[in-house]
Amino acid sequence: MEIARQKLAESPSARFDAEILLAHVLESSRSFLYANPELELTHKRAEQFKKLVKRRALGQPVAYLTGSSEFWSLPLRVTPAVLIPRPETERLVETALERIPPEADWRIADLGTGSGAIALAIASERQKCEIHATDISPAAIDIARDNARQLGLGHIHFHCGSWGEPLQGKFHLVLSNPPYIDADDPHLRQGDLRFEPETALTPGPDGLDAIRQISQFAGSVLLEGGWLMLEHGWEQGTQCRETLASAGFVEIRTLRDLQGHERVTLGEKD
Ligand code: GLN
Repeated sequence: MEIARQKLAESPSARFDAEILLAHVLESSRSFLYANPELELTHKRAEQFKKLVKRRALGQPVAYLTGSSEFWSLPLRVTPAVLIPRPETERLVETALERIPPEADWRIADLGTGSGAIALAIASERQKCEIHATDISPAAIDIARDNARQLGLGHIHFHCGSWGEPLQGKFHLVLSNPPYIDADDPHLRQGDLRFEPETALTPGPDGLDAIRQISQFAGSVLLEGGWLMLEHGWEQGTQCRETLASAGFVEIRTLRDLQGHERVTLGEKD
């Protein structure tokens, strides 16, 4: 464990990472490690652990090494085919739940669902809603479907295709955490982002491209009084509000994440 910690010393979460990886190798939890400090690893498990630590030291995200992540307290399977769900995105889920009445039978669309995080979180809280989730990546749709099955959340319809293209009919709510980082942003070449699917992070040279497309689509499929809610970059609040306004939305506002950054913009269909 000490060696693992030294190897990972460059990462600010070295100790935490080492514990998660060790718990994964032991098919147990971090609290199990604390409860059993004298535990000896078998040779096979020690080798497995060393390999994982080596890959982590090369920068690979812990979630891809363990194949799992947690979002909205739901355990999710993740692979390099999908973005690792972020805590900021829980702000989007909270915002949606504040507006969806508990017994509502709304039609809801989650565009670019990836691991299914947003759709699954909402489905877990609103059993009567009809939720449709899309992704252009067939590998992502497979993972999202698998996550829904594992969690016993059968009331989600998954569709492979670009944004709203595979969907039909009208919706009460459209939400998305789209790719929003400019293709030339140096952050894409740092940390976990280096290992995540590029299409989930950046729409191309203009970070607002996907946000514009989704706003246009939402403007045409939302019922009157329906909502569009989008996650975006911390410097995109103003442009996002303008985009929603020019797509015909009203009551537009932006909410901040726990770091105090503008993160979620929503608007109502007039
Ligand atoms: N919030 C993520 C990050 O900056 C990016 C996710 C996205 O592009 N939708 O790390």
